[in-house]
Amino acid sequence: MSKRISILGSTGSIGVNALKVISHLKDEFDIVSLSANKNADLLIEQANQFQPKAICIVDEVGFPQVQNALGSSGIEILKGREGLLELASRDNVDVLLNGLVGAAGMEPTLKAIEAGIDVALSNKESLVMAGDIIQQAMKKSGAQLFPVDSEHSAIWQCLVGENIDDVRRLILTGSGGPFRSREINTFDDITVEEALNHPNWDMGRKITIDSATMMNKGLEVIEAYWLFGFKPDRINIVVHPQSIIHSMIELKDGAIKAQLGVPDMKVPIQYALTYPRHLAAPWEQLNFMECGDLTFQEPDYERFPCIQLAFESLERLGTAGAALNLSNDYSVYRFLNGEIKFTDIPKINASSLENHDWTKHPTLIDLKELDSWVKNHVSSF
Ligand code: NDP
Repeated sequence: MSKRISILGSTGSIGVNALKVISHLKDEFDIVSLSANKNADLLIEQANQFQPKAICIVDEVGFPQVQNALGSSGIEILKGREGLLELASRDNVDVLLNGLVGAAGMEPTLKAIEAGIDVALSNKESLVMAGDIIQQAMKKSGAQLFPVDSEHSAIWQCLVGENIDDVRRLILTGSGGPFRSREINTFDDITVEEALNHPNWDMGRKITIDSATMMNKGLEVIEAYWLFGFKPDRINIVVHPQSIIHSMIELKDGAIKAQLGVPDMKVPIQYALTYPRHLAAPWEQLNFMECGDLTFQEPDYERFPCIQLAFESLERLGTAGAALNLSNDYSVYRFLNGEIKFTDIPKINASSLENHDWTKHPTLIDLKELDSWVKNHVSSF
């Protein structure tokens, strides 16, 4: 029987790759729902191709276009934030792939988990914002999270068959982004175009900037903490510019297990959707004779202060992760709009982390209030 899949954020980088995976494994999957924020053209094209039961366009400006194109197709058309949350809550799917970007992805993850639906999680911001709340909901409903982020997928694959007590530490690899070896005294001059030019991965704009500041690696440390339950001092980062080793685990006897492959998000997306199977795939495989030297370096915490902020937020827990994540969402947005400098991003994030009204066990309402505070705080710079 085919697995029933919902893809939130189907028009984004992860969403489009997920639909490529599903296209080559047609008999395995049945697309139940898709969603976009603004990109009505692509959503309509995807709906015509995959014939889901329902779709949602979140930005209501695009609704008339979608309605005109698909009104007589028999596909249910939802709109707005409510429509998205409604889709996320439906239990007519087996796996919901969350490919939304930023804090907006958190509540849909929670809704799906509460409905008992397993979530293939690409939206790392969900766990950074609300790891505690999501974990409690998982305990209640029994729903699981399947990591899509390549590093977490690698660790997940390395952990198969291991006793968790035998694992000494998790080693997250990261390419170091485009500014790994750029002179630190020129960081103030970094342009949006330079920051969007990632050496190895082709991704959405927000995560590409996060990779350039290495906030992405920090968010991944927090994500690993919630996914695998390792204390922060047992989660290490190694810079590996070639992005061939996607992450590793070190066992207590000194053995290290790594997961390798070409840097292609279709691989971890497919594993999250076909878990526990590794099914045949048509894309490029790693060729050891051509991949060149694999090198490793210590992360540069002075150059990339956002990494340290992530570790600080894990020491404080409570609302710290949410404050850091929201601040980063808004400051990256302002950087992309040309309103602040690249080097302002870590400064603003540090200030939000430091100055927000910290709460130990935030509710969803607390997080919404925090969102308004952080938004004002970031725009005051
Ligand atoms: P993109 O920006 O490419 O896509 C985001 C998707 O979410 C689009 O479908 C977009 O719709 C939709 N969207 C954006 N804002 C909203 C909103 N406010 N409400 C509802 N829908 C919204 O992002 P990526 O695919 O790059 O990243 C998605 C997530 O996956 C992020 O959390 C990222 O960190 C993570 N990730 C991504 C990787 C990658 O290779 N891209 C690798 C590892 C993790 P529209 O197209 O209409 O704007």
